[in-house]
Amino acid sequence: MSIDSTKILLNEDEMPRQWYNIQADLPSPMPPPLGPDGSPVGPDALSRVFPMNLIEQEVSTERWIDIPEEVLGILKIWRPSPLYRARRLEQALQTPAKIYYKNEGVSPAGSHKPNTAVPQAWYNKQFGIKHLITETGAGQWGSALAMSCKLVGIDCKVFMVRISFDQKPFRKIMMKTWGADCIASPSEQTAVGRKILAEMPDTPGSLAIAISEAIEQAVSNDDTRYALGSVLNHVMLHQTIIGLEARKQFEKAGLYPDVVIGCAGGGSNFAGISFPFLYDKIHGKNVQVIATEPEACPTLTRGPYIYDAGDVAKMTPFLPMHSLGHGFIPPAIHAGGLRYHGMAPLVSHVKELGLIDATAIGQIECYEAALLFAHTEGFISAPETSHAIAQTIREAKKAKEEGKEKVILMNWSGHGLMDLQGYDAFLSGKLHDYPLPEEFLQRSLAAVRDHPPIR
Ligand SMILES: *Cc1c(COP(=O)(O)O)cnc(C)c1O
Repeated sequence: MSIDSTKILLNEDEMPRQWYNIQADLPSPMPPPLGPDGSPVGPDALSRVFPMNLIEQEVSTERWIDIPEEVLGILKIWRPSPLYRARRLEQALQTPAKIYYKNEGVSPAGSHKPNTAVPQAWYNKQFGIKHLITETGAGQWGSALAMSCKLVGIDCKVFMVRISFDQKPFRKIMMKTWGADCIASPSEQTAVGRKILAEMPDTPGSLAIAISEAIEQAVSNDDTRYALGSVLNHVMLHQTIIGLEARKQFEKAGLYPDVVIGCAGGGSNFAGISFPFLYDKIHGKNVQVIATEPEACPTLTRGPYIYDAGDVAKMTPFLPMHSLGHGFIPPAIHAGGLRYHGMAPLVSHVKELGLIDATAIGQIECYEAALLFAHTEGFISAPETSHAIAQTIREAKKAKEEGKEKVILMNWSGHGLMDLQGYDAFLSGKLHDYPLPEEFLQRSLAAVRDHPPIR
C-alpha cells in the first residue's frame, strides 16, 4: 500500500488483539475519584452501578488488556475501519499537507460508540447481568448500546431526553428496531422522574435527569447495571482500538502523523485516536495532539481543572476533570454529543501534563467545514465530527502558510445522516454562534467552589 492509496486498509487478522491503557505510562498518576466526604472511593463503591469486571478495567494500570475473542468477533462486522486520504479536500485547500481521516462512521450505528458499547454489553453478560440501562440525549449512544445488547444477548433500556424523544424520532426507531425499550425522560418509572414530573409536567428533560433515572433503576435491581458511553477510563480504553489501527495503517504507508486531531465531548473518540500516539510522545516521539470542542461548551479551554460531579444530582463520585460546573446547561447547539459540562479525567489529566493542546470553535465555522468536506469527500459528517474537520482545515491552512508538508490525522467520529436539521438550519442561514459569556461561566462555577481541591 502506498501513500497514494485513497484507503489504507487492514485485514481482519491484523486487528489489534489488546486495548492500550495509558494509565500505565502517565508521567504522574491520576488523582483518585472522591466520595461525598472527600475521601477516595474504592472499587466497591461502584459495584451496584457497574459490573466488577468493568470496574477492574476502570482502575487497572496494566498497559495492555486483552480484547475477548467474542468481542473481536462482533467488532469485525465493521472493523478494521478504513483510513482515508482526503485528497480532494487537500486539493480544494491547495495545501501541501497530507490529510488522513479514520472513518468510524462505518459502524452499524454510524459512530465510534459501538467500540465500547459491544465490550460493555459483553462484560455485563459475562458477569451475569440480565438488563443494561443507560441514558441518551440525541440518541447516538442509546442506539449503539441497543445494537450491542441485541448482538450480545442482553436486555437494553434507554432513558431518552424528552425533547429529543419527541423531536428526533429516527434514533428512537433505530433503538426499537434493535429491540431496546426506549422511554422518554423524565418518566413515571422512577422516583426521581415522578418527582420532577409532579413539579414540572411540561419539562423537556435533560441528560442529567435521564442519568439519574437510569442509575436509580440500575442500582435497585440485582441483575441490572448501568452503562456510560464516554468520560470513564474503561470507555477511553475500549476506544484505543481506533488509534492502534491507525498507527498500523500509517506503518503500512510508511508514514507517521505530525498532528492528530479529534473532537471532544466526553473525550472518548479523541482518546481513542490519540492515546496510542501519546504513548509514542511520552517515549520521545514528536507529535502534536489537538482536542477540539464547541465555543458554546468550552470545557477543556475555559473550564478549570477541579473535582466535580458527573451529573446534576451528584449521584456520581467527584471526578478530577476540566469542568464548567455540574449545573451548567449549554446553549442548544446542534452538536448534541459535545454538550457535556465535564471532560474525561484521563483527557483532563494529559491536558494538565501538557501532552495535548485544545481549541474551541464556533458552530458556523464547523458547518462551513462540514460542507466543504461533503463537497470534496462526499461524506456528510455528524455535527460533533465537524469540529475535528474545522480544526483539520485550520492546520492544513497553517501548513500552506508555512510551506510545510505536514501529515494530519483526524478522527471522523460519525456520519450525520440522522442529524440533518442542523444542516437545514445552516443552509437556510438560521444558524448562530454562541460564545460563552464569562459571567455565565462564573455563575455556574460558583456552585462548585466548596468541592475539595485537587492535590
Ligand atoms: C457522542 C459523539 C461524540 C462525542 O463524544 P466523545 O465521547 O467526546 O467522543 C463525537 N462524535 C460523535 C459522532 C458522537 O456520536
